[in-house]
Amino acid sequence: MRSLQTEIEQRGARIFELVDRHPEPLFSKAGFYQRLMALSMRDERFKVQMFRFVDVLPSLRRSGDIVQHLDEYFTDMRNGFAPLVRTGVRTAKIMPWISGQLLRWNVSGMAHQFIAGKNPDDVMKTLRKRHEQKIGFTVDLLGEAVVSEKETDEYAARCLELLEHLARETDGWSDPLDGGAGLFPVVNLSVKISALYSQMNPADPADAIAHLAPKLRPILRRAKELGAFINFDMESFSDKNITLDLFKTLFTETEFRDWPHAGIVIQAYLRDAEKDLVDLIDWGRARRTRFTVRLVKGAYWDYEKIKSTQNGWSIPVYLQKPESDANFESLSRVLLENESIVTAAFGSHNVRSIAHAQALADELGIDRTRFEFQLLYGMAGPVKRALVEMGYRVREYCPVGELLPGMSYLVRRLLENTSNEGFLRAKFSENASDEILLRDPSELLRENRNGVLPRSTVMTTMITTSLQDRHLALGGSLDTPAGDSYENAPLTNFALPENHEKMRAALREMRTRLGREYPLVINGEKLSTGKTIASINPSSPDEIVGAVTEAGILEAERAVQAARDALEKWRWTPFEERAQLLKRAAAIMDRRRFELSALEVFEVGKPWTEADGDIREAIDFCLFYAQQVRRFGRPRLTQQVPGEESYYHYWPRGVAFVIAPWNFPLAILCGMTTAALVTGNTVIMKPAEQSAVCGAMLMEIFEEAGVPPGVLNYLPGKGSQMGAHLVDHKDVDLIAFTGSREVGLRIWESAGITRPGQRELKRVICEMGGKNAVIIDSDADLDEAIIDSIYSAFGYQGQKCSALSRLIVLEENYDRVLERLLSAAASLRVGNPEEPGMTVGPVIDKTAYERILNYIEIGKSEATLAFQHQNVPPKGYFIPPTIFVDVKPDMRIAREEIFGPVLSVLKARNLDEALKLANGTDYALTAGFFSRSPANIERAKAEIEAGNVYINRSCTGAVVGRHPFGGFKMSGGGTKAGGEDYLLQFVVPRVVTENITRHGFAPEEAPLYRDEFRVRS
Ligand SMILES: Cc1cc2nc3c(=O)[nH]c(=O)nc-3n(C[C@H](O)[C@H](O)[C@H](O)COP(=O)(O)OP(=O)(O)OC[C@H]3O[C@@H](n4cnc5c(N)ncnc54)[C@H](O)[C@@H]3O)c2cc1C
Repeated sequence: MRSLQTEIEQRGARIFELVDRHPEPLFSKAGFYQRLMALSMRDERFKVQMFRFVDVLPSLRRSGDIVQHLDEYFTDMRNGFAPLVRTGVRTAKIMPWISGQLLRWNVSGMAHQFIAGKNPDDVMKTLRKRHEQKIGFTVDLLGEAVVSEKETDEYAARCLELLEHLARETDGWSDPLDGGAGLFPVVNLSVKISALYSQMNPADPADAIAHLAPKLRPILRRAKELGAFINFDMESFSDKNITLDLFKTLFTETEFRDWPHAGIVIQAYLRDAEKDLVDLIDWGRARRTRFTVRLVKGAYWDYEKIKSTQNGWSIPVYLQKPESDANFESLSRVLLENESIVTAAFGSHNVRSIAHAQALADELGIDRTRFEFQLLYGMAGPVKRALVEMGYRVREYCPVGELLPGMSYLVRRLLENTSNEGFLRAKFSENASDEILLRDPSELLRENRNGVLPRSTVMTTMITTSLQDRHLALGGSLDTPAGDSYENAPLTNFALPENHEKMRAALREMRTRLGREYPLVINGEKLSTGKTIASINPSSPDEIVGAVTEAGILEAERAVQAARDALEKWRWTPFEERAQLLKRAAAIMDRRRFELSALEVFEVGKPWTEADGDIREAIDFCLFYAQQVRRFGRPRLTQQVPGEESYYHYWPRGVAFVIAPWNFPLAILCGMTTAALVTGNTVIMKPAEQSAVCGAMLMEIFEEAGVPPGVLNYLPGKGSQMGAHLVDHKDVDLIAFTGSREVGLRIWESAGITRPGQRELKRVICEMGGKNAVIIDSDADLDEAIIDSIYSAFGYQGQKCSALSRLIVLEENYDRVLERLLSAAASLRVGNPEEPGMTVGPVIDKTAYERILNYIEIGKSEATLAFQHQNVPPKGYFIPPTIFVDVKPDMRIAREEIFGPVLSVLKARNLDEALKLANGTDYALTAGFFSRSPANIERAKAEIEAGNVYINRSCTGAVVGRHPFGGFKMSGGGTKAGGEDYLLQFVVPRVVTENITRHGFAPEEAPLYRDEFRVRS
């Protein structure tokens, strides 16, 4: 008997023989698309610009805009395309309508290589042709990015229409292989689950299923009546478990339990894929009805890698191409070995993967009419034809829709076709040999592990581009890459079910601890004053989260004394020991992560992911500042001069008074406290009254981490009394404050007065509010702009100092933006954040509730109320997300910080006016700009007045070290929390110079660094 590899090679050779009889037009030398692809494969920077240009083009309505963008994207390129573009642009500027149309025509032509038709009628032309070629179809309705429930309803209705249309138009069509009609209905529809629910949240699969199932049932019911097949496509990893659960839930229901014409996708590039497939098969066996699995490698490889890396998650996809290929083969075996319950559809253009499935099916004695190959429309035409000639069942995946909603699909195809790792490129563009193309991926991996192959894959070794070349080609320099080596703590990935369980358990546990009392901590002693402050649950105000002892003036005096006494020892403690304290605290927070998140849900009404983000930030502050202090902890030589040495170094300022807000109850308190501690200051820590229990937790964590008595003191109390007393205190040297402008300015002024006996000029580190603006340019990607703006404005109820409160929309886009914005806001989930997946919870307390409602009344009198959410819980401090339009810059709602879920929309005639509006405020904290014009993006980067400017993303969610955070003007003193220079606010610089010459003799060189100056006791 011949080995499987020999069989694969033989079948592969046969496919190639048939393939080579016909050219693959995708990689030929002629045509607009082909030339662009060829250039993209040679020039990485061109590829990036080209993809971006293609992405923006369908949204440009005027020819002049198209020419303008072409100019901005390509004229500074240094390749063969640039002179062409320059000439083109010159001519085009004279006759923009001709060139604009020509370009649009060419790009639509390119899209139509991959999109089988604009509408159901149009796609039928393609399907008829394929039917004649004995190729079946599955149709996919383009339009993945939905921002509202209105859009999901439209998608569901279009799916139904399409189904009807296909059934009508294919009436009487027979099965191409005349045999397996029972298994493979003619009409086959692929649906994208994410297009059916706009509020899908991986943390809340139950809610997603509760919304998705009713949308899908009518489609399934009708498909069943029409004898059609429905396939659930698989999208990003975060939606994977929901899609699998939904599939199992629906097809277990009595109505659909016996229906065999349902399919789902398994992505072999996922490390989880085998487990998921085995689970599905077990489920199928219990259900006792056939179903289909389309096995693919996966279309979101780049996205998964980027997203996981940004969030510090383990990457769910394999990182070496042969791993995905090998997994595809091993999953092919699982599928075929379970042929009695599952029908296999192999979705691949890779001849090796295809030949492997064929050889394996033969080995297992499975007839070729019992499974099928599926390939994408517009790709690998010769492979499809070869398979048909060999007598295999082939189905083509045919996307239908307009170019604009089809853009993300098109970009995925372009990425795939230009990828160094792709099979099609290797075969048709690089002309790799059959031998290389048919190699066993497992063998390759073994060789790779044994170091036989220098880099990851055979494809990469064939098409070698050194990393350095690529870096330069992308416009980079050879200098050290930007950013330091700090690696952020990960966020919790709520796409993983075990994390839901941990969070639920923590919430249950925390509920049993509500109502406890927490003492003050001064000089390591726990104290009660008899007076307490109750911290309540804003979702349910009669629920007391905890009661903390209230400190008065007497306790404030004791705390200052304790901090002063402890300072003498702490300031001489080596910085490394102080850094280790922070590291231990971070480890404790990490261990108690879910517990702390649960506390935030109860105490400050944070939705799960927001609470988790806060804990992550607190951990990051500890670790980042521990790392930063090492950068300047040791005295550093100023200059190398003979005979003298001067060392620059820092001393702590003294006693720090930390005053924190409630909206990031752990992170901000922890950030300011750790910055002070690690630089050798002692600290009096005053949490906000509304989040005093979170403050007590932080104290507990530091005690467990081993903070010496007096070095950190926990002192909750009234800001107006005890707080004001400490601000003015002669023995407080430093005030770190984050909060409102009103209080911030009072502290700033009052700290400027020198009191009798005061030793130091007080340093105030002051971070205040914002009136943050986001501009949506006329060419912006609205899918992104709407989702991110809604999140920036209403995430955590708009109670972030970074939150969006003024949305400035260019006139040209105004109506379209508004329509989508309002329906997106209407789709938001508002409710108790104990429920996973809530986006909008309660505002913090009664005062905030009344103040925000008052602003809404002001808004109603000044501007036009365009939207107010209807579905808000009656109990608790819930404010309906509210949007005002016709807002003018001088109105109060456009000028004053509201700190709640209220958004003002302003219209601007052009970018000049938009920038003027954005900058026309007292504040300068965060700002955002959505655009796809490189020139406008450059302008926004240069001109927007804000401490943190975000382009094409939400304006909230700063990450420590990555986005050092803080503003200027009335937003603060210009310091950047989580930045490289933040710690310098907490120290005084000092230089010690020594003449090291003795009678004309001096050492040749002084060391660059020396040990810390120490007091010998
Ligand atoms: C009919 C059909 C339906 C499809 N439906 C879906 C779907 O629902 N969901 C979905 O996600 N995809 C789907 N796909 C897309 C499919 O995943 C890609 O077209 C496919 O990955 C390309 O694989 P290939 O075997 O044709 O080509 P190959 O060139 O052999 O493989 C390319 C693939 O390998 C993987 N890869 C690339 N680089 C690496 C690396 N460094 N490490 C590890 N893996 C790597 C990626 O998945 C990449 O797409 C479908 C494809 C077809 C043909």
